Amino acid sequence: MKAKDLYDIAIIGTGPAGATLARLLYPKYNIIAIDKKTPHGDGFQKPCGGLICTDAQKALASFDLTLPKDVLVDPQIFAVKTIDLKNKLIRHYQRFYINMDRHKFDLWLESLLPKTVELHSNAVCTELKRENGGFLISYQDLETKQIRTVRAKFLVGADGANSIVRRTFYPEKKLRRYLSIQQWFPETHRNPFYSCIFDPETTDCCSWSISKDHQFIFGGAFPLDHARERFERQKAKLEEIGFRFGAPLKTEACLVLRPASFRDFCKGEKGIFLIGEAAGFISASSLEGISSAIGSAKTLSGVLNHPRSNPNERYWQKTLPLRLKLFTKVLKSPFLYRSFLRKLVMKSGIQSIKITETLANPPFFAKK
Ligand SMILES: Cc1cc2nc3c(=O)[nH]c(=O)nc-3n(C[C@H](O)[C@H](O)[C@H](O)COP(=O)(O)OP(=O)(O)OC[C@H]3O[C@@H](n4cnc5c(N)ncnc54)[C@H](O)[C@@H]3O)c2cc1C
Repeated sequence: MKAKDLYDIAIIGTGPAGATLARLLYPKYNIIAIDKKTPHGDGFQKPCGGLICTDAQKALASFDLTLPKDVLVDPQIFAVKTIDLKNKLIRHYQRFYINMDRHKFDLWLESLLPKTVELHSNAVCTELKRENGGFLISYQDLETKQIRTVRAKFLVGADGANSIVRRTFYPEKKLRRYLSIQQWFPETHRNPFYSCIFDPETTDCCSWSISKDHQFIFGGAFPLDHARERFERQKAKLEEIGFRFGAPLKTEACLVLRPASFRDFCKGEKGIFLIGEAAGFISASSLEGISSAIGSAKTLSGVLNHPRSNPNERYWQKTLPLRLKLFTKVLKSPFLYRSFLRKLVMKSGIQSIKITETLANPPFFAKK
């Protein structure tokens, strides 16, 4: 193997987790980062609601970063319309999200990488092996179709829900997973809105809709069996209460993880580190994952930039606050997802906003 094929750290995936880690690691390291998305054209784009919650905003602020205007989309939102299809309830709750273009956000994070990081976009990691105290990493350039194999001392799985790093080295780790399906439509609602939908008949997780630059996205996380059928059934129910879909402009799907216990998070070992959703770091109640991706990457950069013995143990200890926080989301879930408890919370009206209905803004559960 040629000297230039040897790296200190290989990062698989440069979503919010991998791009943050690659940006923060000291330039003394020889780093290769591999990601299948492409800066232009119609290559892979991560399906996402594209909302930056306050925790993720705080994580970005902790680096003194500000968001470029062209990452934002229209409109910005102040409230979520929470819809309980089973109990026929609707409530509005204040939210401080930033509505953005997820693909542009990922590309912006990548644009912040120092030149010392060797980034291979439009390249997919195909095989990983442990060898002589390090790792052999094979990846294919999706344009030239050429396969290259490199070696690295440390391997970081920042490759999201369907992580090849986790699947290769921890196949026994079966986290709870859903198929997330999203469709995009031309926006035809009178008032663009953001909604969160609960419909236990089609899924024990949630769905959402959001407007972005005159397009309307409807998506949800569904159990893997008959996911598409469930998705279509829920769409039909929503049409009955006033949602307007029409012909989809595009349909996208990917896995999304949903930790169910404190032990679900995936602990790497012996030079393998998992950050972001690859490690299971995502909220079980809202499926918000950008803040945990950035947070876990920051933690790992601190550990690797200051080498001492047992970096794996140190990383795991330092993620304890994050893991505890995510565990509280597991505990919070029944209040959102058990129909009876959700009904109590929504009926109480606590923290909800009373919406003034006008002719231009009729009640939502009214007919079309
Ligand atoms: C439909 C949907 C909507 C969501 N909405 C929101 C939201 O509004 N707000 C929020 O905070 N969270 C949301 N989430 C969760 C959030 O998207 C993830 O938790 C977050 O993106 C995790 O970041 P990450 O960097 O760990 O992984 P990812 O963002 O998944 O990034 C992984 C990267 O790895 C690359 N990759 C994967 N496999 C390979 C491979 N074999 N070779 C090369 N590259 C590879 C991918 O190209 C990708 O860039 C949503 C999730 C889904 C599925």
